[in-house]
Amino acid sequence: MSALYGTYARSELAFVRGEGVRLFTEDGTAYLDFNAGIAVNALGHGDPHVVATLKRQADKLWHVSNIYTIPEQEKLAQRLVDATFADKVFFTNSGAEALECAIKTARRYFWDKGERDRVDIIGFSGSFHGRTTATIAAAGNPAYTEGFGPMPGYKHLKPGDLSLVEAAIDEKTAAILIEPVQGEGGVTAFSDAYLKGLRALADKHGLLLIFDEVQCGYGRTGRFFAHEWAGVTPDIMAVAKAIGNGFPLGACLATDEVAKCMVPGTHGSTYGGNPLACAVGNAVLDRIEAPGFFEHVEKMGHVLSRHLHQLMQRYPDYITEVRGKGLIAGIKITPPVRDFVQRLRDHKLLTVAASDNVLRLLPPLIVNEAEIEQAVSIISDAFAELEAESASAAE
Ligand SMILES: *Cc1c(COP(=O)(O)O)cnc(C)c1O
Repeated sequence: MSALYGTYARSELAFVRGEGVRLFTEDGTAYLDFNAGIAVNALGHGDPHVVATLKRQADKLWHVSNIYTIPEQEKLAQRLVDATFADKVFFTNSGAEALECAIKTARRYFWDKGERDRVDIIGFSGSFHGRTTATIAAAGNPAYTEGFGPMPGYKHLKPGDLSLVEAAIDEKTAAILIEPVQGEGGVTAFSDAYLKGLRALADKHGLLLIFDEVQCGYGRTGRFFAHEWAGVTPDIMAVAKAIGNGFPLGACLATDEVAKCMVPGTHGSTYGGNPLACAVGNAVLDRIEAPGFFEHVEKMGHVLSRHLHQLMQRYPDYITEVRGKGLIAGIKITPPVRDFVQRLRDHKLLTVAASDNVLRLLPPLIVNEAEIEQAVSIISDAFAELEAESASAAE
């Protein structure tokens, strides 16, 4: 019996070492990692620059609290500001905390302006924003909110239809919150037109637009942030997962106009943005910002998409849709996805399920063409195996 909370249906599989796109068990068995710690290990496992930076910083200084100036944090914030729409950054330890900061910033912005009833956040079904009480409320997935008490101040709409959003906006609406590419919900990439439309509605009604790029951001779609494809910017954005490549780090980014309401006393975090986390964050960003990095992701995204479409042609009874953008990809399959993830694991390929019976592929962004081909061939073998099993069952 494990001493841990029973919140996860964990596999017995345990890894002791990682290298690039591969993970190894104690007995040396290699697994191809197309999960990357759920879109976290963007640089794969054991990136030499990040590891060396962590070791160097570990010898110097870990933590001092945000009572003092943290040069590594100032530097990372400035680099994020230089590379995005944002003027200000608040560092957290996780994605949910980045969303908490985003929601608090949006509400406080209107409170500051004297519009104190403007607190409602419009969210969308299929969203995932984390597991704190505010973030489960924001996503509104009953599987995650049930039994955790009342959570007023959130509305939920079916995504994809701008008229539904316009109809839902009233004098209490503060912000619209969306993932440009939904991850957990089934790898749904929203169209440029839809994201532009949300921006236009926010502007028309004086609301704030919040993008949750915790999973789809930081290079995964082939741009630094997924919303860049649509040519629109949010007022507030939540970032995490890949930002620390596995070191717990997150960030809430905002425009100056919005962030200026967050004065001393309004928010805080003991660990958030500590020297160790931000040294790692800077090293990760060195690698992400290197020339050709996004181009590589875009190219590998096309390779993966092409292979998945070919696979769908080969197994039309098993694959009904290819979804995603860049290296956040998914296939909607007909066999139960959790069993299929297990089957792939038996074939030494690591993937992760998403809602809507979608098999989600989130390889490290450093993945190469040969590794993509290997993964796709394992998936193909697994479907062939299913086919053979159902043929023999029919005999
Ligand atoms: C993972 C995720 C979160 C929550 O991040 P945590 O670090 O688990 O708190 C929020 N939003 C999206 C889109 C995510 O994928």
